[in-house]
Amino acid sequence: NRSAVPAEIPQITPDVRIPAVLGTDLEVPVKGDRLVPYANLDYAASAPCLEAVNAAVAAALPAYSSVHRGAGYASQLTTARYEQARHTVKAFAGARPDDALIFTRNTTDAMNLLARTLPEGTTVVVFETEHHASLLPWSRVVRLAAPAFPGEAIRAADEALSELDGPALLVVTAASNVTGELWPIAGLAHIAHRHGARIAVDAAQLVPHRRLNLSALDLDYVAFSGHKLYAPFGAGALIGRADWLAAALPYLRGGGAVKAVGDDQTEWSDDTEARHEAGTPNVLGAIALAAACDALSATGWTALVREEERLVARLRAGLATIEGVTELSLWDHEHPRVGIVSFVVEGRSAREVAEILSSQHGIGVRDGKFCAHPFVRHLLGTADGGCDDDTASAVRASIGLGSTEEHVDRLIEALRAL
Ligand code: PLP
Repeated sequence: NRSAVPAEIPQITPDVRIPAVLGTDLEVPVKGDRLVPYANLDYAASAPCLEAVNAAVAAALPAYSSVHRGAGYASQLTTARYEQARHTVKAFAGARPDDALIFTRNTTDAMNLLARTLPEGTTVVVFETEHHASLLPWSRVVRLAAPAFPGEAIRAADEALSELDGPALLVVTAASNVTGELWPIAGLAHIAHRHGARIAVDAAQLVPHRRLNLSALDLDYVAFSGHKLYAPFGAGALIGRADWLAAALPYLRGGGAVKAVGDDQTEWSDDTEARHEAGTPNVLGAIALAAACDALSATGWTALVREEERLVARLRAGLATIEGVTELSLWDHEHPRVGIVSFVVEGRSAREVAEILSSQHGIGVRDGKFCAHPFVRHLLGTADGGCDDDTASAVRASIGLGSTEEHVDRLIEALRAL
């Protein structure tokens, strides 16, 4: 929809202090053995680490010791930091006081953990537009077609939930990892609860870009990953209602998840969080995640969102001027979205485009189906060609803290040249 593109490309205001990320001075080789500054436009896969996160991890390392079970000073300090991280991340997500937060490896791990806690006979309702992390962990599932507009999502969920008996869980993304579009999660939560169901929200692509307020939105569970939130790899969170978690068998069995182990029987921990965090946890990952939450909250969402929206508008406006480039959207062009834009280039495979951007221009994007195969097929209008079909692919550019107009403009110029 080219007519919807703003005539004037918005400029960034220079006075907003955005938290700094590591790696902005990275230079990469391109064709002809030249070095050029790296334009990282692949934040949706993994965002760069914040300087504040780096500093928090460095500060925690000298008192590095085991959590929860040690009597020594370093162990006590590390335990306090780990539990403080839990508190910080819960506050960041707007959790209710009695919600549990289980530190997980990532969003995928969090959704799989949730799947293990569902009461007997629970049916999961999920849209085909989900990332595989939220599409696949469920055993008893109703999969809904991609809705044509946001209200249709609510209507379809309403209809599906009204046909179910027994416990039900609606699982939905807050922001699509393919199109960046924001989903009407407050409305979906309302519908789920009207049917006595629960709602779990995949917030992996929301939390780096928008404030999440679990309690205000009345969500039962949220899941997200540290590595998309400017913290390093290996830590994520599942936050939400404690009752299903408390009633379920431990996700992992081992030290920390038990109260007592006899010769013939094991008594599992009745501390809900400990119950699902067997083994030595990723303490530094939790500290890193909490530091990222603090840095984003301290900056303020209004400033962050304003900056991102300007860059996204510039990116989309630029793409719309290039003949043969088509942006992928599920809904209306004007529908709000985070800093993720996927597109296809006529006559070129997504792989070819991504390789040229990297090898000739030093620009990092992602190509493929973004772990959302049914959704990408839907957007491209292609049939399911089986698991070996890699034709239905797109290119994804995604931005965040540290992204600049120059990165966006380089992408547009490179695509124009292509
Ligand atoms: N959900 C969404 C919307 C995502 O974008 C991703 C990652 O791309 C995931 C879930 C899975 O995240 P992770 O790989 O950190 O488990």
